[in-house]
Amino acid sequence: MSLGAARRDLHSRAAFEQAKRVMPGGVNSPVRSFSTVGLTPIFAARGRGSHIFDMDGNEYIDYIGSWGPLIHGHARPEIIEAITEAAACGTSFGLSTEMEIKMAEFICKSMPSIEMVRMVNSGTEASMSALRLARGYTRRQIIVKFQGGYHGHADALLIRSGSGTASLGLPDSPGVPDSVAAHTLTAPYNSMDSVQLLFERFGEQIAAVIVEPVAGNMGVIPPKPGLLQGLRDITQQYGSLLIFDEVMTGYRVGFHGAQGLYGIKPDLTCLGKIIGGGLPVGAYGGRRDIMEQIAPVGSIYQAGTLSGNPLAMAAGYAALRLLEEPGLYEELDRKTAKLADGFKENAKQTGIPLQINRVGSMVSAFFSQQEVVDYDTAKGSDIELFKAYYAIMLELGILTAPTPYEVGFVSTAHSDEDIEETIRAHYRALLRI
Ligand code: PMP
Repeated sequence: MSLGAARRDLHSRAAFEQAKRVMPGGVNSPVRSFSTVGLTPIFAARGRGSHIFDMDGNEYIDYIGSWGPLIHGHARPEIIEAITEAAACGTSFGLSTEMEIKMAEFICKSMPSIEMVRMVNSGTEASMSALRLARGYTRRQIIVKFQGGYHGHADALLIRSGSGTASLGLPDSPGVPDSVAAHTLTAPYNSMDSVQLLFERFGEQIAAVIVEPVAGNMGVIPPKPGLLQGLRDITQQYGSLLIFDEVMTGYRVGFHGAQGLYGIKPDLTCLGKIIGGGLPVGAYGGRRDIMEQIAPVGSIYQAGTLSGNPLAMAAGYAALRLLEEPGLYEELDRKTAKLADGFKENAKQTGIPLQINRVGSMVSAFFSQQEVVDYDTAKGSDIELFKAYYAIMLELGILTAPTPYEVGFVSTAHSDEDIEETIRAHYRALLRI
């Protein structure tokens, strides 16, 4: 069936009913349930380039991009080849392989602040492990995070987090012990004053500040000028560590991550998503003297049966090598700017209040009169308008995150025609809501 014809969902509906009997909510990760928009979730059958086909035969231009990893789109031949070749040699050894060195060298070379790196299996594991390392290294317990910042679902970080918890209205989760939550302090994103107050009061006990250098789990919110430098200065002043969670921004906002884009060197960095080329992966790295506190060199323990998995390393390394192509990030930027400008023009033409935030190939559109700079302003956007808009976009064959608190990702596979088609659909949707 062609893009934009009425969406069929007979098979997806049946699959969802079946799934709900054996999987909580029918899904393995909450946002996939489409519960925010109240629609039947999509069951993907296959993807190619910028397009996804579902089990009912509907075709969509995809801006979810597996929530960030697919900077090269779906089933990029070089990545599939790398996975196939690696798989033929064995899927896991639990021993070291040469590919892990290549991966580590690539990351150390391209991420300005990373001197050593440890591979793990998800972004959650990366930030959880970075926290343990920061606490072990500083011998302090308190961490500071930002409201609406999502760093995975480790206990200490599931406090006023964004992503699925924003969509589901779960500011906290039952099951997080009070004693753990007590060591996590939060500040509004982009408010250096709040951070300053926390440090004045608790500075000597703060092990680390963890931040998404470009917030991406309450929609996209760029850091205000001075925020990242302010965090760098204050953590240095108090002997705390600065952790950049670049799980989403690493290799996304630029080849050197947000740290390259804004010229700020954190002590530790979390990575994930793109560096796995679509396979499960995470990593944390940073200053050599800190990283050498991890076992087996140091006493801070962290391990993983499948860490540095040969398939994930092969896929990730292939994906990273493809990013070296000259002009690639400029092209991503150009296409995403074209999309954002199209959305802005549509908003102007139709008189619908829309705030467009964009950094590189990350973009969000909030139905709001007000500039979106933090969690409160993001949550102030009109969710009912979003729902109506979302249903129409899906009908028109445009697949974006089914919640306003997640980001749209443009990949190298998106063509100018894709972008133009999306802008046209967006205009039609705005007219109809
Ligand atoms: N940190 C950030 C900034 C993220 O965006 C995410 C996932 N969206 C995570 C951590 C958690 O990664 P994972 O889902 O791979 O555990």
